[in-house]
Amino acid sequence: MSAAASRTLAPYAVHDGESQGRQHAEESSASRSAFQRDRDRIIHSSAFRRLEYKTQVFVNHEGDLFRTRLTHSLEVAQIARSIARNLGLNEDLTEAISLAHDLGHTPFGHAGQDALDACMKTHGGFEHNLQSLRVVDVLEERYGGFDGLNLCFETREGILKHCSVENARTLGAIGLRFIERKQPSLEAQLANLADEIAYNNHDIDDGLRSGLLTIDQMMAIDLFARHARTVEQTFSKLAPRRLILETVRRMINELITDVTETTRENIRAAAPESLADVRNGPALIAFSPRIRDEAVQLKRFLRKELYYHYRVQRMANKAKRIVTELFEAFIGNADLLPDEHQERMKEIGARAIADYVAGMTDRYAIREHRRLFEIDAQ
Ligand code: MG
Repeated sequence: MSAAASRTLAPYAVHDGESQGRQHAEESSASRSAFQRDRDRIIHSSAFRRLEYKTQVFVNHEGDLFRTRLTHSLEVAQIARSIARNLGLNEDLTEAISLAHDLGHTPFGHAGQDALDACMKTHGGFEHNLQSLRVVDVLEERYGGFDGLNLCFETREGILKHCSVENARTLGAIGLRFIERKQPSLEAQLANLADEIAYNNHDIDDGLRSGLLTIDQMMAIDLFARHARTVEQTFSKLAPRRLILETVRRMINELITDVTETTRENIRAAAPESLADVRNGPALIAFSPRIRDEAVQLKRFLRKELYYHYRVQRMANKAKRIVTELFEAFIGNADLLPDEHQERMKEIGARAIADYVAGMTDRYAIREHRRLFEIDAQ
């Protein structure tokens, strides 16, 4: 970050010079801040490229217009950066966290994660959030001197947005806040809330686009109905797609404005003067109570009507079966694994299979499943 930009950072933001540093010592860059470098490392990682072919709700081959984890991550970064700029927070850091937050996701969204977690039950479990940290700390192989991307503490801290106390005890400094019940930086809190804003809104858009949700159904949701009515009054005879997109755009705008204003108020009340104050205080990045209630209503609706729609559940069921059968085949006979994963399995056991399966894209998992179970597949 240039000197001019760093002057605009609020005292409670993460300042580049304050970083708790990287796990392996490196020279700092003359041209880029530490967090710009983190962002760039994430963008150049292979796990980031694979997000293009991993799903959120809809499986990749269901249509070209649905969100993937890549476009989702870009939307999260866009929302987080907009808010960060308004609050005087470190845009580069919140962008890096946003772009990396889903790197550990399995193929097929939550269905894949649940299946892999069940498979790993007696081997320490599987949690996508922890896996995102594992991707940047261990699994990326790009540097001569170390495994992983060697990101700054603050970026890693933001990636690990939740963690059980049990797991936190195994993670050293990065796990400490879960044990001590402290807050992460505001940049990390912001990336987390931007994630929620992004997926709630794009799941409405994708849900309506797929025909699994209807506008009539959505009118029962206060946040949607309020904006849809304004759009209808402002523009006469709008085609349904445009009505939806204009409504979603206004919803995102209201949520961003609400977070910005509520957080500003929270900051005024708590008056943090430093990053240390942020860590020791209450969570400050938040929706207002009214918008929080509306977001809860929306989430409940999406859960019932979209995520539990029978067509989504049928796909989730297939996805679980693929992930489970892949895992069981490999754990039953390690000779079926590609050589590099067999080697890793000798070192770390079942975790090597979880890493391999979790790293798969949707279509790679489908192909690998065919190669293992269909006699004429190669
Ligand atoms: Mg996400």
